[in-house]
Amino acid sequence: MLNKIIYIGHMPQLRWTSLSYKNHKRFRKDESEWTAVYNTHEPIITQELWDKVQERKKSVATGRKTKIGFTHPLSGFLICADCGNKMKLCTSVSRKGTRLYHFDCGYHIRYGKAYCFSHFISAKILEEIVLDDIREMAKRIVLDEKAIREDFIRHNAELADKTMKNSINNGKRMGYLNSYAYFCANARSL
Ligand SMILES: [Zn+2]
Repeated sequence: MLNKIIYIGHMPQLRWTSLSYKNHKRFRKDESEWTAVYNTHEPIITQELWDKVQERKKSVATGRKTKIGFTHPLSGFLICADCGNKMKLCTSVSRKGTRLYHFDCGYHIRYGKAYCFSHFISAKILEEIVLDDIREMAKRIVLDEKAIREDFIRHNAELADKTMKNSINNGKRMGYLNSYAYFCANARSL
């Protein structure tokens, strides 16, 4: 709701178009092609709140598109349990010609096993795990909402703690890699 400019007093225009002057079937245009008439009425939310919402929207993970224009629903949300970096969506085609998707640690893909191990997981299996989790959670919410809320807060606190530890470990690991690279460079010049 909070992404419509009508709420801050502006009126969007030219949102629809027709196929041609002969075919009058109407199509909704892409939002980037709309224009606006400003200050047509009293805003119902402040500009400040609007700006905050837009800023927040930018920080929400949306996931990257693959080369064939596909964005997996879990893209951008998965973190490698070992190194704390993002899991990358990869794709391949099976012998039968079916397109398959899997996730793996982005740093393992980019830097190899010297930085992090492979954490290959099929997207299909991951979807099943997440769906099972959602179903389980929904069942528990029906039974005891208060206990679930407390569990959720505790889990978030643990995650925040883990992320902090991981970034410290990453710092140490990078330090080790830097000294290893320095050693290799010096060994070559001997
Ligand atoms: Zn990793």
